[in-house]
Amino acid sequence: MNENITKKFIELERLIGKTPLLAIDCIYKGEKRTVYAKYEAMQLSGSIKDRVAFYIMREAYKKGAVDENSIIVEATSGNTGIAFCAVGAYLGNKVQIFMPDWMSIERVNLMKSYGAEIRPVSREEGGFLGSIEMTEKLAEQDSRVFLPGQFSNEENCTAHYETTGREIAEQLEKLGKKADAVVAGVGTGGTIMGIGRRLRTVNSDCRLFPLEPLNSPTLSTGYKVGSHRIQGISDEFIPAIMKLDECDGVISVDDIDSIIMAQKLSRELGIGVGISSGANFLGVLLAGDKIGADKTIVTVLADDNKKYLSTDYCSDFEIKDEYMSKDIELLGVRTVSC
Ligand code: PMP
Repeated sequence: MNENITKKFIELERLIGKTPLLAIDCIYKGEKRTVYAKYEAMQLSGSIKDRVAFYIMREAYKKGAVDENSIIVEATSGNTGIAFCAVGAYLGNKVQIFMPDWMSIERVNLMKSYGAEIRPVSREEGGFLGSIEMTEKLAEQDSRVFLPGQFSNEENCTAHYETTGREIAEQLEKLGKKADAVVAGVGTGGTIMGIGRRLRTVNSDCRLFPLEPLNSPTLSTGYKVGSHRIQGISDEFIPAIMKLDECDGVISVDDIDSIIMAQKLSRELGIGVGISSGANFLGVLLAGDKIGADKTIVTVLADDNKKYLSTDYCSDFEIKDEYMSKDIELLGVRTVSC
């Protein structure tokens, strides 16, 4: 790495990670619960994926796999793309993003605002899988193309092992606690695998519960079924880095219930989060039902609500009897800084 790039990485690292751990107290079905959640919106481009983009690019520069002329090309459902766009712009690398054309307009415009080129991919062209194939073809044709490959690159997990997971362990230690379980909605699987492996170095019994939408159970079935509203998770396949055999069972939540939960966190606590965060919150309560309400269970609030203003996040839904959110009374938030 030349001196200029080395300096840039040192500065950039100050803008990524080191997020607060929130302890959100609530009453669920009459019982006191605490959900421990990393508030990931507070970084460079506003999501957990800044950690992954930073880590993969720093490793690539270290190995000499990229230089300033390299073009970052990624297939993504949104946050990874936005993170690579911001990190690419910071480092001076061009970025080209292939993404399904049904993702929210805020995501597309955000990427464009960082100067990136967007290639929307329709269902007829293959959606997520089509996007990945297109990036691979481009790499064959142009030697400047660098493929981070978030669905198959182990560095995606390592980024969370080295940062998110380590921070959670340290923040819980400040409370005199160790994680008994981690729950996280699976897009690539990087979050659950990286955090989970790290937390198991502190408590070898720590359970890993990957989460999926009830109405699109890709993890349980191995392929895509149905459609859902939790952008960022459950794409159309089980990613190579997602190791279900290291996990302790899949947790499923309803997507509308997840939206209502995300709305509740925003409206009642001022914690404005995206839909997958609502899903993860519900997932922690379900994990508590499985292993004990008093256990220390952690998750992530992957991004904030701003990317969802054109989606069902802003709709009002009828609250059905089977929804968990109707049985949750939010009490307040305590914060553990890094
Ligand atoms: N939530 C949101 C909002 C996301 O963008 C992502 C990443 N696609 C995830 C959850 C899932 O994270 P991971 O890819 O690490 O499984």
